[in-house]
Amino acid sequence: MFKALIARLKQGHRTTPWPDGPAPELPERFAGRPRLDASRCRDGCAACAAVCPTGALSGGALDLGRCLFCRACVEACPERAVEFTREPAMAARRREDLVVRGGAYRLAEALEAESRRVFGRSLKLRQVSAGGCNACESDLNVLGTIGWDLGRFGVQFVASPRHADGLLVTGPVTANMREALLKTWAAVPSPKLVIAAGACAISGGPYRGRPEAHDGCGQLLPVDLFIPGCPPHPLTTLDGILRLLGRLG
Ligand code: SF4
Ligand code: SF4
Repeated sequence: MFKALIARLKQGHRTTPWPDGPAPELPERFAGRPRLDASRCRDGCAACAAVCPTGALSGGALDLGRCLFCRACVEACPERAVEFTREPAMAARRREDLVVRGGAYRLAEALEAESRRVFGRSLKLRQVSAGGCNACESDLNVLGTIGWDLGRFGVQFVASPRHADGLLVTGPVTANMREALLKTWAAVPSPKLVIAAGACAISGGPYRGRPEAHDGCGQLLPVDLFIPGCPPHPLTTLDGILRLLGRLG
């Protein structure tokens, strides 16, 4: 017992100081918000669009709602017109705001005052895994570890939709999950929120256009927050939720 206490004291405080302090160091392979430099594009080249597995690139714009962050477009572009920065903040309130043109981007705004009063200090979410590959769910689980400690912001995942203030949906919503998702949504008391996390939940991701799946949950539910990624990094998810709740500038 004494040894365990000493070990805990030596470990110290492991939770990231972010957002009041610096963010944790991101791995070298991390791909953040992209930037497009249209001035470098050669007319009609479209080498980037040709290799994109989800059709995220067209007309000099990159749709983060479809992007898998595979960076095949970066490799394909002979002029280096596409670049992925190290910026983790990417969540947006409106689907159209996920389209990157140049370096401009509109990050998620906070809920209106009454919703902030209701959800701002305590937000309980029911997670619905609607047919994805499980990587999105794995990185959501990370938010519950001591490194991130999501609960310190009053945000928590709960088992029952009746105890929830909203849904956090991952996966493209397969045909088999459609009814379960709609029933879960119906069981959440109003007022309630929907968060779509990951390319699948936003647009269908790699399953887009398949008859066995819907192209994301936006076809069935009113989405309040879109969190891009495949999967979204925990910092991107936390940043988006805190922006929604008006807890970040
Ligand atoms: S990084 Fe995104 S935009 Fe680029 S090829 Fe991959 S999916 Fe398409
Ligand atoms: S967005 Fe990517 S990581 Fe998340 S479920 Fe879909 S394929 Fe998997």
